[in-house]
Amino acid sequence: METELKNKVALVGAGLAGSLLGVYLARKNFPVEIFERRPDMRINDAAGGRSINLALSVRGIHALEEVGVADKIMRIAISMRGRMIHTADGELIFQRYGKEESEVIYATSRAELNKTLMTAAEKFKNLHITFDTRCVGMDFDTTALKLVREETGEELSVEPRTVIGTDGSASAVRSAIADFANGSYTSDYLEYGYKELTIPPGPNGRHAMERNALHIWPRTTYMLIALPNLDGSFTCTFFYPNKGEESFETLNTEEKVKTFFAEHFPDVAALIPELTREFFCNPTGSMVTVKGAPWRVEGKALLVGDAAHAIVPFFGQGMNCAFEDCTILNKLLDRQMSYGRTTERIDWNELFTDFEKQRKKDTDAIADLAIENFVEMRDFVAQPKFQLKKKVERLLEDNYPGLFVPKYTMVTFRRMPYSVARARSIVQEGIIEQLCQNLTKPEQLDLRKADVLISRQLDYIE
Ligand SMILES: Cc1cc2nc3c(=O)[nH]c(=O)nc-3n(C[C@H](O)[C@H](O)[C@H](O)COP(=O)(O)OP(=O)(O)OC[C@H]3O[C@@H](n4cnc5c(N)ncnc54)[C@H](O)[C@@H]3O)c2cc1C
Repeated sequence: METELKNKVALVGAGLAGSLLGVYLARKNFPVEIFERRPDMRINDAAGGRSINLALSVRGIHALEEVGVADKIMRIAISMRGRMIHTADGELIFQRYGKEESEVIYATSRAELNKTLMTAAEKFKNLHITFDTRCVGMDFDTTALKLVREETGEELSVEPRTVIGTDGSASAVRSAIADFANGSYTSDYLEYGYKELTIPPGPNGRHAMERNALHIWPRTTYMLIALPNLDGSFTCTFFYPNKGEESFETLNTEEKVKTFFAEHFPDVAALIPELTREFFCNPTGSMVTVKGAPWRVEGKALLVGDAAHAIVPFFGQGMNCAFEDCTILNKLLDRQMSYGRTTERIDWNELFTDFEKQRKKDTDAIADLAIENFVEMRDFVAQPKFQLKKKVERLLEDNYPGLFVPKYTMVTFRRMPYSVARARSIVQEGIIEQLCQNLTKPEQLDLRKADVLISRQLDYIE
């Protein structure tokens, strides 16, 4: 193992980021070994057939296009044109995500995406995935990666050329870096948990609700969302406080769950036949924001994806951001190779330093945007004032194309740095707030005032 590995780039984790990064590196002829804790999901269906889906958007699609698997994924993805809001009064309100027809997001099966990327990675002879093998630490004096075979408990120590931790939000590589480099990371767990529930296909395999939308039941302090699956089902996610008077702690009998759903989500309760079984059998997931530094130790180890910067899921950007990490790392490699550096002569220290420097501010920004979007989704979207502001925002977008671009559009349908999207969106929200004072209808919008505010405040932010 030692001699085989010493020239290799070792990735820890063959999840979404690890498999994609594997393809990017293998295409450039780097010898790559990926160590994955779990068994091969293409053989062993760990999800037990359950369908968990993610919203894929432009940043993620761009990366999939670069490695040549976008077409395959798009064939199994369902476009979602906007939010379908189910109000507490039983009203349905549709809010489009984008102005252009192309501005849609895609519900995509996490498992299919991961499997496709693994298979794409393994097509390269210079890449190999070792499953059932967990990283338990790293020695930075030697670059030795400490591994344990899950089935036998056998301990291994390997010394690859360099290590990239793509091992998710509870990253073992991050812990090792933190210990060695005196790193400072925060893992802020949201006080909310989530539970996945299923709306099975309706008659004739049809979707029981509008197919091309992301459904939201905002209920101020909690919410339910649903994304469509190809087989006609929806995967719902119920976000609810972990503790307190109204929480997972107190929603603890079948009767209480049935009554709660019938009262607060009457239109959907009837569509989830296995509600109580799923509620009590499916685990309650937790959500964490990981922020901190460093992401690297010299040229010996780097963190990418959730391992470096896990975020809460409310902007649908965690995976998209992890994929964008891979795009950026690939671009930085291109830059070194354009100076004539071959795979053997890459300056990993320079690469990792450049990556962290370029990326940290952007991942901090999307982490903050994701938290802010939680409040927007569970509370504001159903409020008339919010809906008025959305209409004003659309008018400003029409009148100032390319200059006034809604926050959701900048984050989801553009590839501008997240930090720029956040800075511009803060200014734009201030402008909308000022323009909406005393406004009851979007037609009353004062475009002369908008002109002054926009040219004074927005022209200069990059
Ligand atoms: C409820 C929910 C909904 C979400 N919805 C969206 C969405 O709609 N859109 C979006 O863009 N993002 C979404 N996300 C975020 C997205 O899931 C993550 O950002 C994404 O999975 C990150 O990819 P990753 O490869 O960095 O980590 P992971 O996908 O977590 O992969 C890590 C891999 O490393 C392996 N591993 C872990 N530890 C070790 C170890 N010690 N040794 C070896 N292997 C190890 C794991 O088994 C796994 O295969 C959502 C997240 C949640 C929780």
